[in-house]
Amino acid sequence: MDKIAVIGSGTMGNGITHTFAQFGYQVNLIDINQEALNKGVQTISKNIDRQVAKGTVTEVEKTNILGRITTFTDLKDGVSAADLVIEAATENLELKLKIFRELDACSKPEAILASNTSSISITQIAAVTGRGDKVIGMHFMNPVPVMKLVEVIRGYATSDATTALIMNLSEKLDKVPVEVNDYPGFVANRILMPMINEAIYTLFEGVAGVQEIDTVMKLGMAHPMGPLQLADFIGLDVCLAILNVLHQGFGNPKYAPCPLLVNMAMAGKKGVKSGEGFYDYSNGVKDARPAAKFLS
Ligand code: NAD
Repeated sequence: MDKIAVIGSGTMGNGITHTFAQFGYQVNLIDINQEALNKGVQTISKNIDRQVAKGTVTEVEKTNILGRITTFTDLKDGVSAADLVIEAATENLELKLKIFRELDACSKPEAILASNTSSISITQIAAVTGRGDKVIGMHFMNPVPVMKLVEVIRGYATSDATTALIMNLSEKLDKVPVEVNDYPGFVANRILMPMINEAIYTLFEGVAGVQEIDTVMKLGMAHPMGPLQLADFIGLDVCLAILNVLHQGFGNPKYAPCPLLVNMAMAGKKGVKSGEGFYDYSNGVKDARPAAKFLS
């Protein structure tokens, strides 16, 4: 298993590509959008510079890591030689089903097809392929090069061999894999998203401001980041998509997304990636301050 293809060059795709390339794998990074590919490679380069500054990666290694990454806008060209394909495109069921149908047709018959989805059913994705035993969830956390966890999701048809292979591969990337079953949101987002949604409701109902809510959760619960800031890092569009999957999947109103989150996502306020969410990032991530809307 040396050739990896990653689909989607957004927040997660560039981190997954960075990590595999750092551990010696050849990675084809694929996106429909050439600008996203350029931005993805720039982000990887900047993030390796941070590792160089910390002394964990040398300049020579940086050149080698970047040299292992090739970008593609054509799915077929990018995946045809891959042993493992990891899909990290936008969190949308129809899009993922379309991509997996295409992947099944144009990747090697023995290739494993993984999805980095945060919440969408691996069983449903696998069902549009002719190789359900080789389809699995490989859910990395953001930022991928830093975060240790990989949530490995077994779909209904995923084989023991595929699961063992992905568990071992995650360990080779110096990650800690945890095997879970395939229900909406799996484990990570089933627990995280209701907390984020409740933090947004707390703001929406005027209980406290952005900074106050985040400070309570940081200092009171020893969370490294407050839930509103975390939502900005994940992407408010991604949070909304995950809550919708939980809400529809369980049919339980407790997962209904807060109307403020819906409005913000519709207004294009997606968090760090769009420059504004609960915080304003126009002066950079380190100097973020609550967005003007929430100052009062
Ligand atoms: P993103 O919006 O940052 O990036 C998605 C990328 O997919 C974009 O560059 C887009 O151009 C590309 N894309 C869309 N359609 C495509 C297609 N047909 N072929 C190739 N590329 C296509 O999204 P993200 O935050 O990186 O999320 C990607 C996946 O990872 C989602 O399933 C999400 O739920 C999951 N995830 C996200 C996080 C997070 O913190 N953001 C964490 C874990 C998992």
